[in-house]
Amino acid sequence: MKRCLFFLFAALSLTAAESGAPVGKFQQLDSSIPTPSAQRNASGAPGAAYWQNRADYDISVELDDVKRSISGEATVTYHNTSPDALSYLWVQLDQNYLSHNADSRSVPNAKRGVDLEKISYNALDRLLAYEDYDGEMKISKLTDAKGTALPHAIVKTMLRLDLNEPLKAGADFVFKIAWSYPINDCERINARTGYEFFKEDGNCIYTIAQWFPRMAAYTDYAGWINKQFLGTGEFTLEFGDYTVRLTVPDDHIVAATGALQNADAVLSQAQRDRMKKAESEMKKPMFIVTPEEAKAAEKGKPKGNKTWEFKAANVRDFAFATSRKFVWDAMAVEGAMVNGKPVMAMSLYPKEGMPLWDKYSTHAIAHTIQTYSRFTFDYPYPVAWSVNGEVGGMEYPMICFNGPRPEKDGTYPEKTKYSLIGVVIHEVGHNYFPMIVNSDERQWTWMDEGLNSFIEYLTEEEWESDWKHKRDGRSLVGYMRSTDRVPVMTNSESIADLGPNAYSQPSAALNILRENILGREAFDHAFKIYAKRWMFKRPTPSDFFRTMEEASGVDLDWFWRGWFYSVDHVDVSIDEVKWLQLDTRDPAIENPKKKKEKDELPQTLTKERNYPLPKRVDRFPELKDFYDSFDESKVLPSEKKKFETLIKGLKEEEIDPKLLQTKRNLYVIEFSNVGGLITPVILKVEYTDGTSEELNIPAEIWRFNTEKASKLHFTKKEIKSVIFDPRQELVDTDVENNFWPRRPVKSKFQLYKDDKPTNPMREITKPEKDDAKKTKKSEPKK
Ligand SMILES: [Zn+2]
Repeated sequence: MKRCLFFLFAALSLTAAESGAPVGKFQQLDSSIPTPSAQRNASGAPGAAYWQNRADYDISVELDDVKRSISGEATVTYHNTSPDALSYLWVQLDQNYLSHNADSRSVPNAKRGVDLEKISYNALDRLLAYEDYDGEMKISKLTDAKGTALPHAIVKTMLRLDLNEPLKAGADFVFKIAWSYPINDCERINARTGYEFFKEDGNCIYTIAQWFPRMAAYTDYAGWINKQFLGTGEFTLEFGDYTVRLTVPDDHIVAATGALQNADAVLSQAQRDRMKKAESEMKKPMFIVTPEEAKAAEKGKPKGNKTWEFKAANVRDFAFATSRKFVWDAMAVEGAMVNGKPVMAMSLYPKEGMPLWDKYSTHAIAHTIQTYSRFTFDYPYPVAWSVNGEVGGMEYPMICFNGPRPEKDGTYPEKTKYSLIGVVIHEVGHNYFPMIVNSDERQWTWMDEGLNSFIEYLTEEEWESDWKHKRDGRSLVGYMRSTDRVPVMTNSESIADLGPNAYSQPSAALNILRENILGREAFDHAFKIYAKRWMFKRPTPSDFFRTMEEASGVDLDWFWRGWFYSVDHVDVSIDEVKWLQLDTRDPAIENPKKKKEKDELPQTLTKERNYPLPKRVDRFPELKDFYDSFDESKVLPSEKKKFETLIKGLKEEEIDPKLLQTKRNLYVIEFSNVGGLITPVILKVEYTDGTSEELNIPAEIWRFNTEKASKLHFTKKEIKSVIFDPRQELVDTDVENNFWPRRPVKSKFQLYKDDKPTNPMREITKPEKDDAKKTKKSEPKK
């Protein structure tokens, strides 16, 4: 600690922050975000002229359990509510992502797919599986409402439907389309859809998605969103009403987006009675299909087919699951009603999912709906399903597929339990983002995954206060330190480390925004406004940024710039703490102080070695009077007079001379911003008397100089130490320089080893099979 004296009247000049011209990090976002429009206004809300197109679907589909294939026929009614005439429509054929000539196959990603230099047996097996399997969606019919064939072109995962005459603004267009494709074996060909085959009993669980031609979105901000599906950027879709008739073997149990319309035709009387009872059960799920019934079914054979009919209003997609292996449990969600009926939380799982799924899945669904609704809006759909299958974690409206299962012997490590609850919360949570707050997934993964992971963690904390396997900002440090990151504001398909980039980083940033910048009240208010404004609409990043600022009353442009547009990271160093004490100018106080300081100086070697030699005055006592022994602490009359004149002058200027006796220590704490990311400065100051306090300095401390800043701290106490980010919640990448005085901490090398950036990208990353065994039970892919 450097100790200096300062004179009261000169103090201000010492404390002023170093000045400099404002730099980019605090520049307003205006140049980086779109100009507000009639569709999206300047406060981040849908504008007066907001529009979005719609697509209603009426589909009949059959699943062939022998050939393991899908064939379907749909009537699509497309509503052009845009102000533009459309001369062609784009339709998504995402299933073509698994076709032989898919782009996704010719651009293997060395970073997360096959290691191109070392091919493992499992990778080889996957390549062989791809050789055998061509998942292309074959279109057998495409006509207008009258049955006249429509000209079209298939461009990989997109289909362009050419219209004979442009579809006018405000007009509808009806077309019919029929298709088929073979379903992929999920274990060998990993996708967000497929079947899982159980060799022990010869049955399959089908978790089916992206299974029908879906309308691409036409938007006010980018026209048609027809960027090819390469496997990462998910789905940009329109809302609509669905009627879907699913024909499956008559011993199957089906879950799907929407409400079942014909329970009488597909469920037994006993099952219908149990369902009725479950509607008033809010504490514990009830079996609709019991484990015994499911076990009996998996030994039997179907006698024919049954058609299950579902209707769903205002959804942006439709997925389903079907199998004869399913156990089914259901419970009403307390406090959640839609059209006067309780929202039903329901789970489907094979006996292999027990005991685990029967304990936690449905409870986790209910907990998710209750917690998310508090942070956003009431759950607007009649049901929420969680289905166990090989797709480790994937979300659709009202239904999601989740992976974790117990070991074969029925035991499971604690980690598997948390993994299941966590993945159910995450995937059910996706109903809010992006199934209802319909952000553009193919452009911006963070808008659904980041926001959803953020609320997921809050929900997990509310499941139990000591939620194990926390994924807080600390686990992000290794990634934030890496030098080959890309900004969060990067298109989904171009982000190699999607997990940390689009899930953990935005979620950690929002947590900092909530806890350390806005505070919970302001943040929660603004976040809820955003969710409500964009419910059943399509927000873009700027709508989120603008709403959060407008509704919280805080300019956050610097925050979005740092966390979303840059690759800076948080690393603040406490460089120095200067100790300033008041110069009282009173010689009676200052002189003894000066002497004491001098006496306390360490002895030099020269002095120490000379010391045995007696002083001259001691050697010649008779000369004692001749020498003037001078006491440095004594006050001379001239010094006293000078001080009295000073006091008199102060009084004349009406300054209270008592100010000179103020007993305060003034410290100047100096920081440098090594990582470059603008951050609040949270300090723990420890005093010599054993007490401590926490100081929260807003990020604006960096506004004049983004590299250096200093803070004046005024206290009666004496500082012993200062710690930056004492709770380690700001994702600071180098703890070593967070302490003044420096303390020994785990070396950077050790930290690197521990914090290897992992890829929690769970939707598509398929671990190697050996890992899969471990991972499947513990780390769901979502
Ligand atoms: Zn997700």
